[in-house]
Amino acid sequence: MARKPMLAGNWKMNLTNPEAVKLAGELAAAVGQLADRDVLVAPPFTALSDVRRALDGSRILLGAQNLFPADSGAFTGEISPIMLLSAGCTHVIIGHSERRQLLQETDDLIGRKVTTALRKGMTPILCVGETLEQRERGEAEPMVSAQLRTALKDLTPGEVFRIILAYEPVWAIGTGRTATPAQAQSMHAFIRSVLTELYDLQVAGSLRLLYGGSVKPDNISALMAESDIDGALVGGASLKADDFVRIVKF
Ligand code: PEP
Repeated sequence: MARKPMLAGNWKMNLTNPEAVKLAGELAAAVGQLADRDVLVAPPFTALSDVRRALDGSRILLGAQNLFPADSGAFTGEISPIMLLSAGCTHVIIGHSERRQLLQETDDLIGRKVTTALRKGMTPILCVGETLEQRERGEAEPMVSAQLRTALKDLTPGEVFRIILAYEPVWAIGTGRTATPAQAQSMHAFIRSVLTELYDLQVAGSLRLLYGGSVKPDNISALMAESDIDGALVGGASLKADDFVRIVKF
């Protein structure tokens, strides 16, 4: 089943608005017209509108790094899906391991965020992945399976078609230690088997599975050569135009 590659940059809590606009402009000029792959950037909330303008005329997609599962109300410091849509976002990263670990986000809350994003017309990029301790105890697959089952539990087959998954082993994020292509492929194949069990072969074969964790220009091609890896969610290397452009053009 043909799945369009996606290369997504998670800018995390980096870049002032002028810096974000400069990077977005460089990316728009270099890879803004590619049609055979999806390119996405996820700037901090404060830069979304400015980056949207800097990307005008390009095909680069705009994503947010989080949302709160309500339209509006007394939720100080939170951002709703309708606000993100009005800022020009189509995608939203949900369940990133930094939010799970530093902000204590639970699988349950992440599931509510995924469901809300979909029902408001956004495409969630749901992140799952095990810690080093879990991998060493042989619990990587059960952990990823549990994260998926809880996050997807309220979704109908018609809804689940619209999500994107990112397998991001926590031990590989920002550490310079990438999963080998074989390790990543093996988990991606496992994720498709869980999706087959939860839904069916068609869902499992059509969802895009991104790999994330110290993706760099020199390791992207080997990862993308694996049959179940459909793209990458890139942190550090997405902040440098040259590096991200090389990743996008793997
Ligand atoms: C990430 O933040 O999703 C990520 C994969 O970061 P890095 O590429 O820096 O490891």
